[in-house]
This record gives sequence, structure tokens and C-alpha cells, in this order.
Amino acid sequence: MQGYISGIVKLKNEDIVVKIITKSKFLSLYRFYGIRHSIINIGRKIDFEIDYSGIFMPRLRNILQIGFEWEHKYDRLYFWQSFLKLINKHLQDTNEISSFYFDLLDEMSLKFQKQNPYRILLDSYAKLLEFEGRKILEIKCFVCNQNLGENSVIVRSFLAAHKSCIPYSLESINTKTFFDFLKGNRSICLNNAEVKYLLNIMLEGL
Ligand SMILES: [Zn+2]
Repeated sequence: MQGYISGIVKLKNEDIVVKIITKSKFLSLYRFYGIRHSIINIGRKIDFEIDYSGIFMPRLRNILQIGFEWEHKYDRLYFWQSFLKLINKHLQDTNEISSFYFDLLDEMSLKFQKQNPYRILLDSYAKLLEFEGRKILEIKCFVCNQNLGENSVIVRSFLAAHKSCIPYSLESINTKTFFDFLKGNRSICLNNAEVKYLLNIMLEGL
């Protein structure tokens, strides 16, 4: 079975619980002396087996790493791991999951070789919002429900609002540009400052 390691919970001694996203499940598997195991790291794609003879929970066995060419590039790895941590938190109360998440990670891991990691993360998050039915494309303020002006403030889940409706906001983005991005799941229309603005919002939580 294949999966992506999205979380590691340290227990007593050096034992750990490893959280893994597979095609159909969000697994929690026990591993003895797991901290010593160099393959077990957030973001790794692994091939593994599950041993169901454990007393407390199934165990993670026969782990093989499926490497990515870009793994030695620290900036890429950092953003990849950040995204995996966000997905881990997002899926925390689920067991059965759609193959969407595994497939999305597969797609992202291929793109990480060549494309800009910030933009891959944003495009993927827009796809995730769409898949989960959370993508709002109506050009209205989510606070007061009135039409948005030239610029908008964006908050978590990529909801748009008037600057006056979100008093603590400092930055904003061109409304049309934002919705062009969201509609097509493509950050190509965003400049680098806009990418950074949206990425920081995304990193607050999916
Ligand atoms: Zn408003």
C-alpha cells in the first residue's frame, strides 16, 4: 500500500503514531522506535504494510521510501511539508477519505520538480476548496453580502470581503484578479506579491 506521511505523534520512549494519507483512508499506525527510522518524516511517500496484530492499534511495517528528485531542495521540501501538515490537521477527524487527497498530492509532487512551489500550493488549495464545495465565486462580501469593490480583503478559506468589513486587515488584492485565480485554480494571473499574500492566508489553515 502507498501513502503520504502527514503527521508524527511522539509517544513514550521512541515509539510514534504515524498519520498516513492513502487512496481511501487517513490512517493512524503505531511504530516502535519510530523516531530512529530515517524514512519516517513528514511529506515522505512510502510503500508499507499494516500489521493488524497490535493490541492498541495497527502497526506500520515494511516501509520503503518512494523518493522525489526535488527532496534535497530545502525550500521546496519546506513548503511541501507545510502543506502536508495543513492537510493532516484538516483531515484529523476522518478515517475514510476520498482518493482526491492522495491524487492531489501525487499531482503536486510531480509538479514540485519544475514549477514554483508557492504557486503549486495555491492552485492545489483552490482545487481542494472546489472539491469540498467550499469555493465561493460570487463576487460579494461574505460579511455584509454587498457587491465587492475594486480591491478585497481575503480571509481563511479564501473568502473575500470589503476592507471596511474586516477592520484588522492590512493588505488587500485586486478583486477581479483574485476571482480569476480562484475560478480557474490557476495562479498564473497573480503577481509574486499577490501569491505571497494568498499563500500566507492559506498557511493559517485549510
Ligand atoms: Zn462587506
